[in-house]
Amino acid sequence: MFKKILIANRGEIACRVAATARRMAIKTVAVYSDADVNAKHVSFCDEAIHIGGSAPKDSYLRWEKIIAAAKASGAEAIHPGYGFLSENEEFAQACLDAGLVFIGPPASAIKAMGLKAESKQLMEKAGVPLVPGYHGSDQSPALLQREADRIGYPVLIKASAGGGGKGMRAVDKSEDFAAALASCQREAINSFGNDKVLVEKYAQRPRHIEIQVFGDTLGNYVYLFERDCSVQRRHQKVLEEAPAPGMSQAMRQQMGEAAVAAARAVNYVGAGTVEFIVEQREGGAMNFFFMEMNTRLQVEHPVTEAITGLDLVEWQLRVASGEALPLKQEQLSIQGHAIEARICAESPDNNFLPATGTLHVYQKPSCATFERGTVRIDDGVREGDTISPFYDSMVAKLIVHGQTREEALARLDEALAQTRIVGLSTNVQFLRHVVRSPSFAQANLDTALIQREEALLFKQETIGLPLAAASAIAQTLLNEKAREGTDPFSRRDGWQTHGVTVRPFEFEFRGESAKAALTYRHDGTLQLQVGELSGPLVFSRGEQGIDIEFAGQRLTAAVFTQGEVDHVFAARGATQITAIDLLAHAGETQAEGGRLTAPMPGKVVSFAVKAGDKVSKGQPLAVMEAMKMEHTIAAPADGVVLELLYAPGDQVTEGSELLKIGA
Ligand code: ADP
Repeated sequence: MFKKILIANRGEIACRVAATARRMAIKTVAVYSDADVNAKHVSFCDEAIHIGGSAPKDSYLRWEKIIAAAKASGAEAIHPGYGFLSENEEFAQACLDAGLVFIGPPASAIKAMGLKAESKQLMEKAGVPLVPGYHGSDQSPALLQREADRIGYPVLIKASAGGGGKGMRAVDKSEDFAAALASCQREAINSFGNDKVLVEKYAQRPRHIEIQVFGDTLGNYVYLFERDCSVQRRHQKVLEEAPAPGMSQAMRQQMGEAAVAAARAVNYVGAGTVEFIVEQREGGAMNFFFMEMNTRLQVEHPVTEAITGLDLVEWQLRVASGEALPLKQEQLSIQGHAIEARICAESPDNNFLPATGTLHVYQKPSCATFERGTVRIDDGVREGDTISPFYDSMVAKLIVHGQTREEALARLDEALAQTRIVGLSTNVQFLRHVVRSPSFAQANLDTALIQREEALLFKQETIGLPLAAASAIAQTLLNEKAREGTDPFSRRDGWQTHGVTVRPFEFEFRGESAKAALTYRHDGTLQLQVGELSGPLVFSRGEQGIDIEFAGQRLTAAVFTQGEVDHVFAARGATQITAIDLLAHAGETQAEGGRLTAPMPGKVVSFAVKAGDKVSKGQPLAVMEAMKMEHTIAAPADGVVLELLYAPGDQVTEGSELLKIGA
């Protein structure tokens, strides 16, 4: 077995590979770009080597640099992870030429499977079922049109060099073919530098079912069963599960054997995935057709690990070091059901626009463990890290395992509810809606699931204004009480404890403004009015968050305040509500100069001023330390320091007011 390997990747997959290596007492070398100087994968490995600028072309794709790093560190092998160089046959060959082991298939197998059209020709010879279609070399538009007409509509035009869901066009009728072809070719040239296309029958109610295969250098092959990855958006996977619901034993075996035949046809070694499109016909018949083979470890491999109890990275390392496959086909079996959800920085309600930003809060399900267990989180980030625009937007993979699909589903929903991210938009709530949708819950799967359930998945309100406002108010009052504890003079004005006082609140919720009024009654109780609703507000801090009761409703909410926005998380869902500070906005000067808040969570290092000091615009007032850097907070306008609200050494949350300035 190797003593040291280099991991030519970043993020969760680099951490994932390193975890197995550590368990096997193999030393790891990380590589990193400028943007990743403080990344989790760097600290996770035994050594780390800087390889260049933040853009992938300046670092993770520079294979000469990576090979040099491997040689310099004394690594014997390179694990490419997925993406980046993992399916680059030149890189695989260059490793070999440099006397290093490439932990993956031989360059020749990557090449053979690299182009969709060529690989189909190969598969046809190997007797693997193909989607009816055309994958020849004659690319004249007239011929492609004739072929499409012959295949029958709808058809799919695919860029032969395509990947990641790019370079595909569905065409419903003959008249639309020419325009779709031209646009597909344009995208193919721009994205892949190759405008060759193939044409396929668009399968009916298609499901994406793929088979995990493994080969060793001794010519042994096994299949580790299937994964259903039908839940997709823009042809990209959202949820993956294993085994595939409704899969018969006979079909599993047929697909497994077809996948092994595909691997054998290209002398495959290591972990690979053969992707099939499965057509669901009226009456329940399912036909499977080869789509493509991915010659690497897949993002969704953990669901296979969960149902087989195996570590696929361990298998990769064993095979790459020349060992035989650890198990034979008849020794493999399926245990229970596993589902993976890809947690991404994106806005599902805004056409899945990728988001970037800092993970100010990143709380994982309390029961989650890395690498193994019934709830597993694979990630490459920590709280405080940023999701940058340089790399893909996946924050984490959440993988659950249960004895049955129902059990796995319930566990996934609960684990998603406990996944709390503040600082950037994510698809966590969207994933919960998908998991709870009738189609997914009943395993009525096909690639159009998200479209079909659209009405239930987007722009959903799980916590309404009354409870959102009650949560924000409860959080404010609890914060004030905590502050009072240390400083009896910091109590906010606008209300008093003797006699009845009404305190107004103003919020922005789901794009609309809303007013609330809190009445402090003689008997010490609180009465809240939000819009038409009015009733006692009762709350207390509990173990899971704030237990709130208002207007006949209860909620246990974890509330995180970021600036003026309160992020409310509860079992039933999550929402955001913006508190408009009425005091801060009361007078012009106050509004301009009144609030000096911490730009991020951190520690107060020092104040450069004291109460009563006159300050001029731009003058440094305080220094904070956050994310290993110092930040100076300067006066936004001329004024007088009224009050310092913290002392040096205090920890503050983002948005905390540090000092008050008056005109
Ligand atoms: P990529 O390499 O870009 O991921 P694939 O060939 O793997 O492209 O196809 C991606 C997705 O497109 C599949 O998972 C499936 O949802 C859909 N798809 C591909 N081929 C067909 C087909 N013939 N009929 C219906 N849907 C298809």
